[in-house]
Amino acid sequence: MLNEIDLSVKPEFVNDYRDGYPLISKESVLDWSRVTDEGSIVNLIDAKNKFIAKGYYGIQNKGYGWVLSYDAKEVIDATYFTKKIKSAIEYRESFFKDENTTAFRVLNGEGDGVGGLTIDYFDGFYMLTWYSIGIYELKEEILQALKSSVEYKGIYQKKRFDGKGKYLDDADDFVCGQRAESPIIVKENGGNFAIHLDDGAMVGVFLDQKDVRKTIRDTYAKGKTVLNTFSYTGAFSVFAALGGAKKTTSVDLAKRSLVKTQEQFSVNNIDANTQDIIVEDVFNYFKYAVRKKFLFDLVVLDPPSFARSKKHTFSASKDYVKLLKEAIQITNKNGIIVASTNAANFSMMTFSDFVFKAFKELNGKYKVEKSFSLPKDFRVMDKFKEGNYLKVMIIRKIK
Ligand code: SAH
Repeated sequence: MLNEIDLSVKPEFVNDYRDGYPLISKESVLDWSRVTDEGSIVNLIDAKNKFIAKGYYGIQNKGYGWVLSYDAKEVIDATYFTKKIKSAIEYRESFFKDENTTAFRVLNGEGDGVGGLTIDYFDGFYMLTWYSIGIYELKEEILQALKSSVEYKGIYQKKRFDGKGKYLDDADDFVCGQRAESPIIVKENGGNFAIHLDDGAMVGVFLDQKDVRKTIRDTYAKGKTVLNTFSYTGAFSVFAALGGAKKTTSVDLAKRSLVKTQEQFSVNNIDANTQDIIVEDVFNYFKYAVRKKFLFDLVVLDPPSFARSKKHTFSASKDYVKLLKEAIQITNKNGIIVASTNAANFSMMTFSDFVFKAFKELNGKYKVEKSFSLPKDFRVMDKFKEGNYLKVMIIRKIK
């Protein structure tokens, strides 16, 4: 920890770092061979050996490390991380006070000054997700900081360090404190979710969609037939049902999605038997629905940014227009399409262009009623707009 390593930044990148760009990219540094161990603290310096910023070395798909401080004298230790965690908590004060929401993000990577780490809160339990070996090397300092900053029932972790953010299954994600039941029940804007803290890569709910779920429940669901595609554990279906949807249909390829969706309905006192939960490839389902002339009042599209199934490969940047066209065909006139993507490789502008193209090719007409990016707890930096990967549009089909 004590020996910090100087890394010379190529002249054309110096201004970006001085200006607050947080990601230490591979191509911006002259000589990476100076640093060997992930987790090393590095000082970025210019051609005149002048200090620019301090960060750590950790290989992630996005880059080779993150800036942590602009103070040459800063020591990256538990005290440093305590400062970061405390200010992250302060920023989410309203979430901690809200009895109707007991699951939210507490620290969002570089958005809260600590790239490569996220911390989520689930009713007294904390989940740390490590995105590189480098940040995991700083685990002791970070855990000490978290423990001294919050009261907790228990702490869990997920390791996603193969460079592509893939989950490493350790068999046990428990770190310390008290073990959680599986599931624990958390609240989101008054709705319930079953959360499994130690059951594979994901806990069951993507917390970044909270504002979209609330809007569907409060504004769009009442009396409507709802098709939720790529439904995973059915979180959108549950909120639609809570909002008084006439019926929801959830479609996901993964076999486990059936029991997981039944569980989410049941913790909300909704009889899952009154809803349709279909384990199938969405693209097959669309064909079937078009043939049968099914029409829905509200269709949710929330595909992964990239997926390969037996018959199809889907890439959001290449195939979203096609997906939209299928959805448009089975949406009622005056119906709603909720189009969502977490693909970080295109902008909101490009995404709205996809919508434009899809309707144009079908001679349709539409109106965008609302759009969303990440919610407040998923804090992002002005200097790192790429961090705001979520794009959601609520579209009314006029024709
Ligand atoms: N909308 C969900 C999150 C979707 S995650 C939510 O709100 O929680 C992406 C999901 O897409 C995964 O559950 C995966 O099983 C599913 N999936 C990927 N390719 C698919 C396909 N071709 N057909 C159906 N589901 C698919």
